[in-house]
Amino acid sequence: MADRYANFANSGLGRTVVKRLGLPDPPRLRRFKAGDPLVSGPVLLGAAPGGRLAEPVRKLLEAAGAEIKDQTGEGVRVSALVFDATGIGDSDGLRALFDFFHPYARALEASGRVIVLGSPPETTASPSEAIAQRSLEGLTRSIGKEFGRGVTAQLVYVAPGGEAAAESTLRFLLSGRSAYVSGQVIRVGAGAAPTPSDWDRPLDGRLALVTGAARGIGAAIARVLARDGAEVIALDVPAAGDALAGVANETRGRALQLDLTAADAPERLAGYLAAGPHGGVDILVHNAGITRDKTIARMDSSRWDQVIGVNLTAPERVNGLLLERDLIPSGGRIVGVASIAGIAGNRGQTNYATSKAGVIGLVQAYAPVLAERGVTINAVAPGFIETAMTAKMPIGLREAGRRLNSMSQGGLPVDVAETIAWLASPGSATVTGNVVRVCGQSLLGA
Ligand code: NAD
Repeated sequence: MADRYANFANSGLGRTVVKRLGLPDPPRLRRFKAGDPLVSGPVLLGAAPGGRLAEPVRKLLEAAGAEIKDQTGEGVRVSALVFDATGIGDSDGLRALFDFFHPYARALEASGRVIVLGSPPETTASPSEAIAQRSLEGLTRSIGKEFGRGVTAQLVYVAPGGEAAAESTLRFLLSGRSAYVSGQVIRVGAGAAPTPSDWDRPLDGRLALVTGAARGIGAAIARVLARDGAEVIALDVPAAGDALAGVANETRGRALQLDLTAADAPERLAGYLAAGPHGGVDILVHNAGITRDKTIARMDSSRWDQVIGVNLTAPERVNGLLLERDLIPSGGRIVGVASIAGIAGNRGQTNYATSKAGVIGLVQAYAPVLAERGVTINAVAPGFIETAMTAKMPIGLREAGRRLNSMSQGGLPVDVAETIAWLASPGSATVTGNVVRVCGQSLLGA
């Protein structure tokens, strides 16, 4: 469903009306296009004294072709403000944040990027350092709400020893791939990560399975993973067979018709993967999902069972069997698709929110276990994304979903897909146990 309001607000007449009446002003977001440079202009890099990340980050950005500035003069525009806050050891030291962001806030161009780098509070040497590092969340989330014009702001906690492995995350957050991701706290763990030989095709040689891939977000995931080099198996129910075949053709992949709620679905899937040329699967994306909305007082038990069955029990059973049969090798990636409803709850969605909170639980329960196998597990939590699912919403709710976020607009399926591709990358080897919202910093559950 087209966002007519956003189209109007970006027209000549619309811009005037929106400004005069103080209406929501959805900017055109800078989304990634093949061949785009990492950033469209210089990156301003600042650091609190004693920070351990500024130098590795400077080298990494320079190697990626970015122009780095340590300061700018009046009227100079930059495409990103990156601040290493790891040197901040107590609350007095937080003043370094003001000293950097106050003068440079206006230097950031539309769809610019703010990245604050911190140390995970639990890895710090003292309570005062832990408190100061925890404070960074408030700054970052507020900047996301203040700057507008499609600017995104994130806090990246990099564990000591994880400096080099932060590259894939920084590249994602700086680029147009993260257009609809803002106000997030992302954790990069300690350890090494392989550097892809081609950052435009980091998934070369990898086999990915995407569930619910016949349409909507799942089809976008299949396309983006294929664009990034993966061979894709697109899975969906037999009733969606024609659309599924279309996606498989377009991505030069394979189509697999399977109802994930069938009793023998995990067994059939495991057999299919074991018999394939890879003898398993490298990237597993649990995207298939349904809604059956009613308040709990009006809901019949079948609506409850169907939603829990597709959204939570199916991924849990599939993971269980594929891991038991060793069909996800070291270097493997599992990504779940949760929802902001699973974080904030939502009226009329007790079944759905329960299932999606369960997807977050799945990530948290499995991350430590899978780390021992060299496999990561993360989830994305989309907010309002323009798909067939949200086109069915009543108009009032749909408009609220679109506007009540820092971008004043809904996201696109590709925004969720790009986030999943980053998590699936070999370079994201130390990113595990994260739940990353793709919601334009929605006010729901913020
Ligand atoms: P969609 O309804 O357009 O697509 C979902 C796909 O899953 C369909 O092709 C469907 O056939 C498939 N599917 C359903 N049951 C299945 C089963 N038993 N076995 C195999 N495939 C099955 O939905 P979408 O909007 O693209 O959503 C994709 C995912 O994103 C879902 O998990 C959804 O909960 C989540 N999500 C969507 C939004 C949004 O705004 N659209 C927001 C938050 C989360």
